[in-house]
Amino acid sequence: MRVLSNAKTSERMNIPTTDHYLLKHAHVPRPLLGHQAAQFPVAEGLAAFDNLVLVDLEIRGGAIAAIQSSTQPSIRLSSAASSLPSAETSSRVPPVASPPLPTVDLRRGMVWSRFVDMHTHLDKGHIWGRSPNPDGTFATAFHTILRDRERHWDSEDIYRRMEFGIKCSVAHGTGALRTHIDAYNNQANISFGAFKALQEEWQDRITLQAASLVSLDYFLGPQGETLADLVALVGGVLGGVAFPNPDLDAQLDRVFALAQERDLSLDFHVDESGDPADDALERVALTALRYNFTKQIVCGHCCSLALQPHDRAQRTIQRVKEAGIGIVSLPMCNLYLQDRNQVATGRQYRGATAADTTQQQDAAPTHTPRWRGVTLLHELHHAGVPVAIASDNCRDPFYPFGDHDMLEVFREGVRIAHLDSPYADWSQVVTTTPALLIGLPQAGRIEVGCPADLVLFQARSFSELLARSQHDRTVLHRGRPIDTTLPDYAELDSLLVP
Ligand SMILES: [Zn+2]
Repeated sequence: MRVLSNAKTSERMNIPTTDHYLLKHAHVPRPLLGHQAAQFPVAEGLAAFDNLVLVDLEIRGGAIAAIQSSTQPSIRLSSAASSLPSAETSSRVPPVASPPLPTVDLRRGMVWSRFVDMHTHLDKGHIWGRSPNPDGTFATAFHTILRDRERHWDSEDIYRRMEFGIKCSVAHGTGALRTHIDAYNNQANISFGAFKALQEEWQDRITLQAASLVSLDYFLGPQGETLADLVALVGGVLGGVAFPNPDLDAQLDRVFALAQERDLSLDFHVDESGDPADDALERVALTALRYNFTKQIVCGHCCSLALQPHDRAQRTIQRVKEAGIGIVSLPMCNLYLQDRNQVATGRQYRGATAADTTQQQDAAPTHTPRWRGVTLLHELHHAGVPVAIASDNCRDPFYPFGDHDMLEVFREGVRIAHLDSPYADWSQVVTTTPALLIGLPQAGRIEVGCPADLVLFQARSFSELLARSQHDRTVLHRGRPIDTTLPDYAELDSLLVP
């Protein structure tokens, strides 16, 4: 058997050029192995603490043809395409009889599925160079985006910035992505048009989805129906921001009716504030139950839930569960935006009063955040609600940083929301769970028959994985390594000149 050593840690792994090869000694987070996971033995030491499984992965024709325990070779799952002995015959056929396969010894390096980034804003991305946010607040971000959109968002501007974001995502190892798209009036035609072109151009490399983004009052007029028709035409998801207002229930009714008529899934921004009175999540759940809505509903952010009294929050969580709603938290953006220079009750949407501002400025010119901005991820998870995390905004007035790197999102999510050990049990929040919530059941998992869409790391444990950026990761698409070079920031310079 020809074993290709992976001795130099700074070099990309030497993946065989044949379409049939073996990745030996891979540390895989157990939940990524799906229903097959229970068959593999519990690891020892730190790998047991992390809930990692040591396996050999046979890759054939761009798919995972077999998964075999590295420590107990008799435990082996295979498809008909695999040329190696199956589970029934492996005990009778000695390993030396196996046909020699080009093999890479990963030496317990971690292997993940490609990531699923289910909540981004590609249309806003990478404008920080021309539209920064001087005070970092949600309100300033909101108005800065509005101005930038009016001035700059033609087809070329949208296309090139969205493409830049897609290049980053793919290079970092994301295999599926949903973006929200600001969709007021003619901007919807411009932005969805650019999105469709990119969706087609990149279809062999990444699955792209789009959801509309408008404040929900937009749906009350005839333009709401036009937008719903457009979303249906492009195979998108109907979405919007549920800002607190007296007409919210009527607005939700309208959105649900438009979605039901067109058989569309729903994806809302809700309660992105530190005001415990904001309860759009519960209202979405109640509307869904009233409609007996059967398509998938996703609610993103849900920050205020974390500041509500226990009983109130629990009631909402139960209703969310009953309605089958999936929750996506955006830990990096919400850590940045929430509790920023606001009074304790949170006034991001409504704006602080002059008296509040004066009082605050008298005390100190700036304010240290007291809370982390994330929703009740643990409580939702324990109640059986599917939870995911995602990247959200990237280098725009809502968030000046980010690179569409779902490993960074996971790393920061672990730190911000205490997604504690066994860390592998949280690996699903950036892989299998978002895949299911956006309707891609084969994505985000490492199972026999699934595409060999994998991310290979030098790191052997979660401590090693989360301590470094893992910029030298190897990304496989259909079993082949892709170019992981990130786009040059200078590509967008001509768009960013003020
Ligand atoms: Zn968002």
